[in-house]
Amino acid sequence: MRKLAAGNWKMNGTQAALAEVSALAQANPAPGCDVLLCPPATLIARMADLARGTAIRVGGQDCHAKASGAHTGDISAEMLVDSGASHVILGHSERRTDHGETDAQVHAKAVAAIKAGLTAIICIGETEAERDAGRTLDVVGTQLHGSVPADATAAHLVIAYEPVWAIGTGRTPTLAEIADVHAFLRARLTARIGAQAANVPLLYGGSVKPSNATEIFAIPHVDGALVGGASLKAADFGAIIAAL
Ligand code: 13P
Repeated sequence: MRKLAAGNWKMNGTQAALAEVSALAQANPAPGCDVLLCPPATLIARMADLARGTAIRVGGQDCHAKASGAHTGDISAEMLVDSGASHVILGHSERRTDHGETDAQVHAKAVAAIKAGLTAIICIGETEAERDAGRTLDVVGTQLHGSVPADATAAHLVIAYEPVWAIGTGRTPTLAEIADVHAFLRARLTARIGAQAANVPLLYGGSVKPSNATEIFAIPHVDGALVGGASLKAADFGAIIAAL
């Protein structure tokens, strides 16, 4: 199983931020570890140029389910590939909240992304109210079933478990809580796509930083991280890559 350290820059970064890519290119990921940066769409092509020949791969943060057409402001999976992207984040909780994305829409986007040759990083996670109500496994199980195409293969799929209440808050579940969810997700994914689920990286996301990365990466069925704030600075993200 390959491991993955993925950075989600969200709506942060102008051309000046590309200096971080050159700094991060010095980070030498261990064999078997992949490094991915997902900048705003405006930076993908230039970042892909800068990253060529390094260990860094570049991804988008969303795509439309259609290949082209009258969809002002949207970007297709084919356009991401054309810009140099290898991955795309889909169904992030901020898109589910800000844009009302449903599991069915995330599923349609994942089908389009995989068809275009991208690896789909499908995000799922419970809100604080859902966790307090004891509904975490129910919620993430439903999201996984509804968002992941049944015919997805391990070569083009990554799952990111991001508890909504842990994103950008500095709070994280306990290590045991993360372990419970990841073991559950491995089993649910096996039910959805079969035995190859064993080779799909399961990322944890939500307030991952250099100081907690080592203990989080030691949890069974945690195969990497989807990192927000701490991926914006090469020094922090480099330390997380080293912990992987
Ligand atoms: P933070 O690492 O800033 O908590 O963000 C996590 C996230 O949402 C990554 O997609």
